[in-house]
Amino acid sequence: MARMAPPSPVAALLRRIPKVDELLGRPELAVAVGRLGRERVTALVRHELAAVRREAQAGREPPDAAALSERVAGAARALLASRVRRVVNATGVVLHTNLGRAPLSERAVAALAATSGAYGSVELDVATGRRGVRAAFAERALAALGGAEDALVVNNNAGAVLLVLAALAAGRAALVSRGELVEIGGGFRVPEVLACSGARLCEVGTTNRTRLGDYEQALANEPDCALILRVHPGNFRQTGFVERPTLPELAGLAARHGAWLVKDLGGGALFDPARHDLPGEPTVQSAVAGGAALVCFSTDKLLGGPQGGAIVGRAELVARARRHPLARALRLGRLPLVALEATLDSYLSGDLAELPVFAALTAPPEAVRARVERWVATLAEQGIAARVVAVEGATGGGALAEMPLASFAVELRGDDVEALAARLRAGEPPVLGRIHESAVLLDGRSVLAADDDALVAAVVRASRA
Ligand SMILES: *Cc1c(COP(=O)(O)O)cnc(C)c1O
Repeated sequence: MARMAPPSPVAALLRRIPKVDELLGRPELAVAVGRLGRERVTALVRHELAAVRREAQAGREPPDAAALSERVAGAARALLASRVRRVVNATGVVLHTNLGRAPLSERAVAALAATSGAYGSVELDVATGRRGVRAAFAERALAALGGAEDALVVNNNAGAVLLVLAALAAGRAALVSRGELVEIGGGFRVPEVLACSGARLCEVGTTNRTRLGDYEQALANEPDCALILRVHPGNFRQTGFVERPTLPELAGLAARHGAWLVKDLGGGALFDPARHDLPGEPTVQSAVAGGAALVCFSTDKLLGGPQGGAIVGRAELVARARRHPLARALRLGRLPLVALEATLDSYLSGDLAELPVFAALTAPPEAVRARVERWVATLAEQGIAARVVAVEGATGGGALAEMPLASFAVELRGDDVEALAARLRAGEPPVLGRIHESAVLLDGRSVLAADDDALVAAVVRASRA
């Protein structure tokens, strides 16, 4: 007598997987359907079911309908939470790339509010009614502030460097010291950007020492050298047996050989940090005055504006960059352009203190201490033990060579500081600190003045949970 084959175990597992319609009707998904609509939640359900089917093929028991719909609800929550949210930056790193670098000034926010919900004269000369020059104000202001003949803005400094190399050195040699073939973070690697531009990299000197003679030798070997690229290694520091020529020495050498000196300045300081008791950092003005034909920098690092990149320097070279097809592909968006104009206006009117980055970096340590002491006193009133500790903050954003800045922090201790830090991040707004020697440190230097109350309230909630 023929016997029926027993059902395969995998087929039995697959049969137990809940159906789409059953899941969509479950209470766990009511909020997600209300927020995202039935169609998008159906797509999330199907995505989750595909994963469960693969697991079943591998012999794993499928989750029941309640567990599965909770998984889909979790995916919906994660999707919504992945939006950019306001966070309190108590990391001590003033220019934090993961936190969007420079917070904008009130002047910049007001300019955005005034123009971004309406049409704007982005490329219109209002007086004549004819087409105008995009970014004319920003470029004139940057040229004036940097002491340069002309300027061009693009969407970030990586784009600025790429554009300059493509416009001036495609198909020709570009000299770079081996000590400057660096990675800046976020995937900006000098040799790779150079390769993308079509320029041919010619390495000079050694990692720690590159002399003027090394450049001279390389120029003699490379008659078709377009430029020398000098990169400011802002996010690390070489000490000890190191040597490299000064910028004016290099500029002189480049000029004698008919090559241009291009400086990738990174940080783009338009004020002199040394005059504000900060570690020395080359400024845009010093790079231009030091003989660089073009200087490239970010507008959202020390300059304190929105994401953007600037090229300043000799008019004929800026014009070549402006004419290159990549300039259109890299052009600065309207919203950052409006914010950049307002930021540069603060420099023109001499009101640097209104720029949050400048204010945070130049706040005297005693002022930071007094603020953190006020937080600790308020916490004590709520029965939460915390103390003020001296710490070292950092500028971040590849600026000031990660030189420590004297600062003060609230120190929170507990049995499980990782869990405490996670609760601080889970609040609204999330508060980001750092963990150091089994304590959570909330550094006052990088916390915006408007965030004082939010920070204290977050610590109260996280400590009581
Ligand atoms: C930060 C930095 C860059 C990249 O600038 P983005 O504006 O982030 O594109 C390039 N070069 C140097 C030296 C930098 O410090």
